[in-house]
Amino acid sequence: MLGILGGTFDPIHYGHLRPAQEVLRALALSEIRLIPAANPPHRPPPVAGAEHRLKMVELAAAEFPGFRVDDREFRRGGPSYTVPTLESLRAELGEVPLCLLMGTDAFAGIETWHEWRRLPELAHFVVMTRPGWPFPETPVLPEWARRRVSRDAAGLARSPAGGIYFQPVTPQDVSATGIRRRIARGESVEGFLPSAVRDYIRAHGIYSTEVTDAQKKR
Ligand code: ATP
Repeated sequence: MLGILGGTFDPIHYGHLRPAQEVLRALALSEIRLIPAANPPHRPPPVAGAEHRLKMVELAAAEFPGFRVDDREFRRGGPSYTVPTLESLRAELGEVPLCLLMGTDAFAGIETWHEWRRLPELAHFVVMTRPGWPFPETPVLPEWARRRVSRDAAGLARSPAGGIYFQPVTPQDVSATGIRRRIARGESVEGFLPSAVRDYIRAHGIYSTEVTDAQKKR
């Protein structure tokens, strides 16, 4: 069973890495595939260039055994939609169970994703707690999701796709937006991301000149 974590990773941080590591262990996944979005749809363009974001993901993955970087969204070009990414993984890997990891915030917006109804045909969803975003109560879930919820992690391994599993993880109160803001203000980001990534950001002067909306208002 393979775990997949996509994201803008602008930059990658412990809020991505540690929850994914906990899922890797809890579900005994064979690996975590980190798949950075080259051209993330539905959001303003990333601050760091695609090559920098990919490099930072590589530096981070090197510190987490079982993590691998997959650059297929860079090679494909065009908008980095998840459905074609999962389709190409499926074509490569056959009927292996695929677990698409996402935070509770991402899951809350899943119905806005491109061709979202195809997602459960292609992967299980493993939803990880994110501070400020509790798990939705089952009765408030839409019908398509409610009937897919599984309380049994082992059950996911019995089919290639289609389940929804809620995995509590140790809260990591960190976001890429918060990190970019701190760097732009000259504040420390110690403890928010691997030191190799922090050093890379520093060496290339990434985020140091970002003027955030919050700063513009001041
Ligand atoms: P930004 O602040 O720029 O919106 P982000 O920190 O939310 O970025 P993304 O790259 O957009 O990072 O997130 C990729 C995935 O990681 C999403 O599924 C998101 O829910 C999840 N994620 C990000 N931060 C956390 C966190 N602190 N805890 C749990 N999941 C997280």
